[in-house]
Amino acid sequence: MSRRNLIAGNWKMNGGLHANGALMAALLEGLAKTPPACDIALCAPAVYLAQLSEQLRGTPVDWGAQDVSAHESGAYTGEVSAAMLREFNPRYVIVGHSERRQYHGETDALVAAKAARALAAGITPIVCVGETLAQRDAGQTEDVVKRQLAAVIHTNGHCISEIVVAYEPVWAIGTGRTASPEQAQGVHACLRTQLGAASESAHRIRILYGGSMNAGNAAELLAMPDIDGGLIGGASLKSADFLKIIDLASAEAR
Ligand code: PEP
Repeated sequence: MSRRNLIAGNWKMNGGLHANGALMAALLEGLAKTPPACDIALCAPAVYLAQLSEQLRGTPVDWGAQDVSAHESGAYTGEVSAAMLREFNPRYVIVGHSERRQYHGETDALVAAKAARALAAGITPIVCVGETLAQRDAGQTEDVVKRQLAAVIHTNGHCISEIVVAYEPVWAIGTGRTASPEQAQGVHACLRTQLGAASESAHRIRILYGGSMNAGNAAELLAMPDIDGGLIGGASLKSADFLKIIDLASAEAR
């Protein structure tokens, strides 16, 4: 089964109106020269979604948010609901990024509830799972990612084929250390089996790799059979690097 690659940028807490505008203009200029054969998205801080929807509407680039509240509405100061995101027509929202699990204490159950809110609002959650270095060294990688994904499957089983999964080893995020293609493929295959047990449509679910993916290492990672794209932090802030990764992800389909 061939799945269309998805290359999703995670800008994290970077950007500004001017810089975002210039970055998107450079990306769109590059994509006009070489039309992509993969899906593309930019996940920005929520305050910039209006800008992204304005500048990216009608282009090959989708936009997304980086988080969503698990609550519907009410007294949750600082949170942004799925309905609020929906007003800016994002295609995606990242949930359970390791930086949120680590710095904001997000639990598996909370991540599952966020995914449910996104799905109910018609926004595709990009569900992040991944182990820390200590967990990898202790041989717990598969147990950890399966536990994280199981919570999302448990809560969202009926529409699990609508999600995107991102395997992001915590030790590889923003560190310059990348999982080897074989290491990543091993975990992706394990996640694919888990999804397969939950849904007959699991073969359609895209599993992205994230963790210091860049223009130099993307080709060998994307060549793996169960790696269906990338969630890209640092390299998504440089248009030339991001365009190169898009080109590599498109090459498989051309
Ligand atoms: C991320 O933010 O999800 C990520 C993978 O970051 P980086 O590419 O910078 O490691």
